[in-house]
Amino acid sequence: MADMALVVVGAAGRMGRTLIRAIAETDGVRLSGAVEREGAADLGKDAGELAGVGNLGVTISDDPLPVFAKADGLLDFTTPAASITYAGYAAQARLVHVIGTTGMSAEDEEAVKAAARHATIVKSGNMSLGVNLLAVLVEQAARALPADFDVEVLEMHHRHKVDAPSGTALLLGKAAADGRGVGLENASVRVRDGHTGPRPDGAIGFATLRGGSVVGDHSVIFAGPGERLTITHNAEDRSLFASGAVRAALWAHGRKPGLYSMRDVLGLTQN
Ligand code: NAD
Repeated sequence: MADMALVVVGAAGRMGRTLIRAIAETDGVRLSGAVEREGAADLGKDAGELAGVGNLGVTISDDPLPVFAKADGLLDFTTPAASITYAGYAAQARLVHVIGTTGMSAEDEEAVKAAARHATIVKSGNMSLGVNLLAVLVEQAARALPADFDVEVLEMHHRHKVDAPSGTALLLGKAAADGRGVGLENASVRVRDGHTGPRPDGAIGFATLRGGSVVGDHSVIFAGPGERLTITHNAEDRSLFASGAVRAALWAHGRKPGLYSMRDVLGLTQN
């Protein structure tokens, strides 16, 4: 079978370059195109050279449609607005769309769902095996522990990250909420400042740290009377998100349209 032809959108970004390297290192896929936003500094450069894997004969372009016409799938770690636009294109062209972009609003999520009627979309706030396994463990712990164990999600990322809490922190918060049979939107406490009063029963709290070059640290703390359980994941290298995204694209290739998660890709879905 021919290699799956993949386009990296946001090709010059931190994740974009890492994705180009991951494609170059993976059998069964090839980089067929690289797209950046209009006005980006790296337009016209060779994507492989920019990513440090040598010339791949793929020029970074700001004209997505001709690039998508020759592709089987898109790997997209950009911005919510860009990912929504690309999901629309993926639906029109019936492409696989792997979305790692975080910070989407409820309205954005609805637009992704609508696109998934025609595109095969895999979307996850974290593409690593470790974090998706962590989410399964968090859901189990939240289900098993009594309600007087307070749940707090603590995360730290590099100083350039623009959204908070991280997509991964929200994914873990949702896992805890699912385990407790509640909706995260009603339980989450994202900010504490000033005279907050005591902690509401059943709250799922978030705390955000930013600084330096941290790739992604997440802990979920279950704080009960007299004991505390902490489950932690530390991402040491962005390449684990990129190889997860490539794996997701290969998994989705030939699958029927729909909105899938990394748990589906990794076979971690609980019934
Ligand atoms: P970055 O700012 O380094 O890269 C984003 C790139 O997207 C930039 O090069 C930007 O020019 C480009 N871009 C913006 N609009 C575009 C458009 N319309 N078309 C094409 N390109 C466009 O950011 P980053 O650190 O690479 O992170 C990108 C996203 O991925 C963030 O939302 C981040 O939270 C998320 N992320 C997710 C995971 C995961 O596993 N799901 C892991 C790491 C990062």
